[in-house]
Amino acid sequence: MKTQSTLKSLLALALLASVASGSAEAKLNVITTIPDLRSITEEVAGDLVNVESLGRGTQDPHYIEAKPSYMLKVNKADLVISIGMELEIGWLPSILAGARNPKVNAGEKGNLEVGSSVEPLEVPKGNISRADGDVHPAGNPHVTLDPIRAGEIAQKIAARLGELDPPNAAKYEAGAKALVSRLTEKSRDWDSRIRKSGVTQVITYHKTLTYFLDRFKLENPAILEPKPGIPPTSGHIIDVIKLAKEKKIGLVLVENYFDPTVTTKIKQEVPGLRAVTVAVAVDGAPGVKKIDDVYEGLVKAIEGSK
Ligand SMILES: [Zn+2]
Repeated sequence: MKTQSTLKSLLALALLASVASGSAEAKLNVITTIPDLRSITEEVAGDLVNVESLGRGTQDPHYIEAKPSYMLKVNKADLVISIGMELEIGWLPSILAGARNPKVNAGEKGNLEVGSSVEPLEVPKGNISRADGDVHPAGNPHVTLDPIRAGEIAQKIAARLGELDPPNAAKYEAGAKALVSRLTEKSRDWDSRIRKSGVTQVITYHKTLTYFLDRFKLENPAILEPKPGIPPTSGHIIDVIKLAKEKKIGLVLVENYFDPTVTTKIKQEVPGLRAVTVAVAVDGAPGVKKIDDVYEGLVKAIEGSK
């Protein structure tokens, strides 16, 4: 009798284990181009999907190496989530080509570009040429820097996950809704803290923070790059110094994957100017683990607290 009941419980255990591994196998494999999209997907899906980002938070998202190991990851993916708007134009197409996974090719259900689902800023007017630097016809692609647009992106991701995995569609939708309300709530707090800081104008290195600054009504009267993607020249730095003095700009935020030494000269020339190096992506610094932390870090940098 005893042996039989032991056998029975062993069988039950084996069955449980096989069910568990079965459900693990059924999980969707999601690959995102940047860690912000990974974090948003995690908020939407919890542990219902496996999600990994190719790019790291300390990397300039325009320039990521198309490594063979990334092609292997995409080869096994059910869904590839990118920004689009040409953010990843220099590296994602070759990863997709090398991955040989037809279900994640552009235009397929396994390929989601979220950038086009939010209202763009800085859409160029008229003809653009290489001489204008990295100007993108669909507008500035750094859309995840706005907490409200991040919520819209979450809803877009939830809808696509629901199409690929209908039994969990309601859970994805609920995950996105929870993120939207949390970020909406926090944005009110971030907004009042920024108002209280007295900061109204910020110089940045690249136009990475455009959506964040626009959301919180901060002006961005100067950029250290003379043109998007073109490193600062000494002539341009002199112009920025002049402008910073004239307009009494008190803060420079330098995205932490750019060279912060260019700010040394500006700090010397403009008394009272603060230059802060900031993480502008999830995993961009220790403690920046999810999308909320990116905005919180930026607000703290503006407030002057670390
Ligand atoms: Zn950019």
